[in-house]
Parts: sequence; structure tokens; C-alpha cells
Amino acid sequence: MKIIMLGAPGAGKGTQAKKIAAKYGIPHISTGDIFRANIKEGTELGRKAKEYMDQGLLVPDELTCDLVVDRISQPDASNGYVLDGFPRTIPQAEALTKALEARGEKIDYAIDVTVPDENIVSRMSGRRACLKCGATYHLVYNPPKKEGVCDNCGAELVLRDDDKPETVQKRLNVYHAQTQPLIDYYSKAGVLFSVDGTQDIDKVFADIVAKLG
Ligand code: ADP
Ligand code: ADP
Ligand code: ZN
Repeated sequence: MKIIMLGAPGAGKGTQAKKIAAKYGIPHISTGDIFRANIKEGTELGRKAKEYMDQGLLVPDELTCDLVVDRISQPDASNGYVLDGFPRTIPQAEALTKALEARGEKIDYAIDVTVPDENIVSRMSGRRACLKCGATYHLVYNPPKKEGVCDNCGAELVLRDDDKPETVQKRLNVYHAQTQPLIDYYSKAGVLFSVDGTQDIDKVFADIVAKLG
């Protein structure tokens, strides 16, 4: 099963993608996590990506598309995957479609997690991330067992630089301008469904599972 998560920053794509990956036994592939891991390791890619990420802008397609095509060609992705945070632009979607077509494959589902902009800023200010294992928490809606510490791996939780309110507003603008058109793109491809992302985490997941079967 090949799945794409769509939705605004903070809509809950990562939270749901991890649950889907666990239930269906497929890898969760997050471009944001890949970029953050590169920043942490101090790679050339990380250095370039950080310039854009810190400003709330998208990393250029040239730095993003090949990376994802390589990743989905790994053996662990042979039975499918859930892509979280990619594609984010029409050219990225077209590059993905083309790479899949070359192998006689296609995306099975694009899941749009819908949350109004008004809810996003408060969600993001409460988000806490583990930069070691990629887990995310929320101070109110999904707190870790021990404050400030990752349940999964014990590392310290942080407020991401790009989750500060002024950057979040910018990311929302970028989302509406560059990523929202993908809803139409995948709707036309006949693979889109939407879920109401304002419900609690387990209810959103139940709605997704009901559609995936
Ligand atoms: P969120 O889950 O909150 O939307 P992500 O972790 O997916 O955030 O992405 C964080 C940042 O990483 C984005 O704001 C953008 O700068 C960069 N990024 C992630 N994925 C992509 C992509 N597919 N294309 C361009 N930039 C990306
Ligand atoms: P995205 O990957 O779309 O940027 P996340 O999955 O990281 O979003 O979720 C953003 C923040 O909102 C996190 O702090 C997460 O714990 C929280 N969150 C996710 N889903 C819900 C939900 N259904 N209700 C309330 N908070 C949620
Ligand atoms: Zn962790």
C-alpha cells in the first residue's frame, strides 16, 4: 500500500503516518525527519535545507525529489510506504508520478487531514519533538509520560525552531500557495480522501482505517 499524507503543517500528518506504518507494517518516510537528521549530523544537505526551513520556506525541489525516489527504492519499501511531508509542490508530485510510472506503479491513497488555520498555531506551540527518533508529542493533547523526555528513546524533547508562531504563520501561507493544489491533483487521480483532523487522535485514525480497509 502506497500512501501520501496531505494537510497543513501541524494537521497531524506525522502522528497518523506513524500509526498507519505500525498497523500496516510499512515504513514511515518523512522528508522533514530526513532533513532534521541531516541538520543534526551536519551534512551538506542539512546545511542547505536549514537555510530554508528556519525561514518557514520549502527546501528546493532539486534537493528533495531524488532523495525521496532513492528512499522509496530501498528494499524495506517494496511492499509500500506512507509518505509524510512529500510531495509538497506540484513539480514534486509530478516527479513522483513519473518515477512510479517508470516501474508500473502508482499511489494508492492520498489522505488529506483537514484542520482550519485557526487551530494550527496553538497546536504547533504545544508540539514537542524528539530530534533523535522523530517522535512528536503535544503538551496538552498527547503528552509524554515524563515531562520533556521522549517515551520511545529517552532523549530530550524540544520546541522546533520553525514551530514558533511567527514562522508557523509563514508556513501556513506557503502551504496554501504551494501544497494545497495537490488536493486537486490527487483528487483528479482518483485516490484522495479527507478526514476531519480536529477530532482526537484515535478517532482520526479510526476514520483512516475505515477507508483503507
Ligand atoms: P510539518 O510536519 O510541521 O509540516 P515537516 O517536518 O514536514 O513539518 O517539514 C518541516 C520543514 O522541512 C518544512 O517547513 C520545509 O522547510 C521542509 N520540508 C519538508 N518536506 C519538504 C518537501 N517535500 N519539500 C520542501 N521542503 C520540505
Ligand atoms: P504534522 O506532521 O502534520 O505537522 P503532527 O503529527 O506533528 O503534525 O502534529 C502536530 C501537533 O499536534 C503535535 O504536537 C501532535 O501531538 C498534535 N496532534 C496531532 N494530532 C492531533 C489531534 N488529532 N488532536 C490534537 N492534537 C494533535
Ligand atoms: Zn525519541
